[in-house]
Amino acid sequence: MKKIIIDAHAKINLSLDVLKRREDGYHELEMIMQQIALKDVITIEERDAGFTIASNSKEIPLDQSNLVYKAYNVMAKKFNINKGIHIYIEKNIPVAGGLAGGSTDAAAVLKGLNTLWKLNLREDQLMDIGLKIGADVPYCIMGGTALAKGIGEKLTRLKSFSDRLILIANPGLNISTADVYNNLKLEKITDRPHTENMLKYIEKGDTELVAKEMKNVLEGVTIKENPILNKIKEQMISHGALGSLMSGSGPTIFGIFSDSTDLAKCEENLKYSIKTVLSTKTV
Ligand code: ATP
Repeated sequence: MKKIIIDAHAKINLSLDVLKRREDGYHELEMIMQQIALKDVITIEERDAGFTIASNSKEIPLDQSNLVYKAYNVMAKKFNINKGIHIYIEKNIPVAGGLAGGSTDAAAVLKGLNTLWKLNLREDQLMDIGLKIGADVPYCIMGGTALAKGIGEKLTRLKSFSDRLILIANPGLNISTADVYNNLKLEKITDRPHTENMLKYIEKGDTELVAKEMKNVLEGVTIKENPILNKIKEQMISHGALGSLMSGSGPTIFGIFSDSTDLAKCEENLKYSIKTVLSTKTV
């Protein structure tokens, strides 16, 4: 039986702006996306028949609501393939954290099945299929550093912003992405990301300027309701982070550090009170 193993990296948002609410209910976004080394590992194995999922995580569904099932289903239907598949998800990315854990697993399955079933689809074709599963899936297929517009699907690759030291802190709060968007008062946002500046700083590779310019308009909703997130940001800054921001709709907070000793001290300190604290880097 054939088997393939694919890395599924998490993402952070170096910036996130919500421009408007569209008539179809989706939001028009402008975000800078960055992949990090933190990853799930997806093993896809051919079987005689059926579709099954297993995982080391008790926090994700193993039924048809798992995004890897949606990815398999869309590919099997589109290409009329009737082979059995078993998927094992080694889950390392905090679940429901704003790190696109489900989307990146789905992206890995699309890439894996493309290879396993010898479909020879180009990256842009896989990204079009990915959009049917979720708005973040096309970016997860592309990876690296990217500007995302539309609902997240209009992507422009940016100069790589790799090898920056990142500390992730997730207090395990239950945040609903839908609630965060519903509670966002667009007309009240005053402090927006300056995307043009961010693009310039990324092009220059200036870590300090990027870190100082980072902004996420959803912080206004999630942090207001969960002040502990602001405490984490303050701790990161007081331990020497160049900048600290919430990723996606939260609750994960990350910090960019220039000094690995500062990062290690901050990690040690946060570990006592925060559920998940991980050091990683941009890729
Ligand atoms: P986003 O940033 O795209 O909103 P997220 O990182 O906040 O996503 P996920 O980790 O993708 O959140 O989890 C969101 C929900 O999706 C979870 O509550 C979980 O039940 C469901 N889910 C379905 N499939 C997966 C998967 N493979 N990995 C993680 N969560 C999954």
